[in-house]
Amino acid sequence: MKKINQKNLAIAVDIGATNLRTAIVDDKGVIKKKIIAKTVREGNSFAISKQVIGEINLLLKGEAKNNIRGIGVSIAGPLDYKRGGSINPPNLNFKYIPIVGPLGKAFPFPVVFYNDCNVGVLAEKFFGDGKKVKNVVYITISTGVGGGVFMDGRLLLGKDGNAAEVGHITVDTLYNLPCTCKYGSGHWEAYASGRNIPKFFKAWAKKLNLDFRCPNSAKDIFDAAKVRNKICLGFIEELGKINGRGISNVIAAYDPELIVLGGSVILNNSQLILKPAQKHIEKFLRQPKIKVSILGENTPLLGAAASVFYKK
Ligand SMILES: [Zn+2]
Repeated sequence: MKKINQKNLAIAVDIGATNLRTAIVDDKGVIKKKIIAKTVREGNSFAISKQVIGEINLLLKGEAKNNIRGIGVSIAGPLDYKRGGSINPPNLNFKYIPIVGPLGKAFPFPVVFYNDCNVGVLAEKFFGDGKKVKNVVYITISTGVGGGVFMDGRLLLGKDGNAAEVGHITVDTLYNLPCTCKYGSGHWEAYASGRNIPKFFKAWAKKLNLDFRCPNSAKDIFDAAKVRNKICLGFIEELGKINGRGISNVIAAYDPELIVLGGSVILNNSQLILKPAQKHIEKFLRQPKIKVSILGENTPLLGAAASVFYKK
């Protein structure tokens, strides 16, 4: 007999620095309905939760609500699970963003939230290439570098929900580039994130005394490498060393069966990132499979939905 009212739908919310995406997603990872708005940047600390509530109401207009299991939210960390929100996220303009309190009051559904990297790995585990494995790590390289780890059947969270901050492991002592986290130098994110690749290029060119007008953006560098510009290809090899070291550290720490790479820098330049990085992954390590995400830019939304279906 077919069961009715299985509550197989989730409301997924992806609070990004630029866009706020909300969607209704089913338990197979199919996005049924999606709306996108520009994330608010001004107002008091409730401005974002107020906007999210408005978007969810818009999304639910005319929809049956009895199949909705809960609301899952993806937001940049650092998170504070005791307070139920995000503290001073670097790319959002607020000191504290409450999530669970305001959303829980506004809707009769349970609310869960994770940082954008942890929802990334949930998306891969539930709806992506991670479906068939027990141990998967998701690494995102976009504006920043981050990671999420699903290991031995559960999501690794750590004491505050910020485990696997892999962007801030040390991968270099030669250039010693200061990191965007402001707390250290030589961190993976200081070299390989979209924002920092041009700074790394400059430092690399200076060390080699290259007489070359440094490109202003990561895109310019990758575009030049795609048309076989020799200097940019040389840099891509150096970047491969950094990514290879970062990935080696991830393998050494977590022993995953699969590493899924996502984020805009990877998705737009997968060959230029993956091949040079693979050359520099330590050979003594037990090698996992390494794949580029098939979920693309929907990863945070799908992960927010997966967090509703995920049972701790
Ligand atoms: Zn850092």
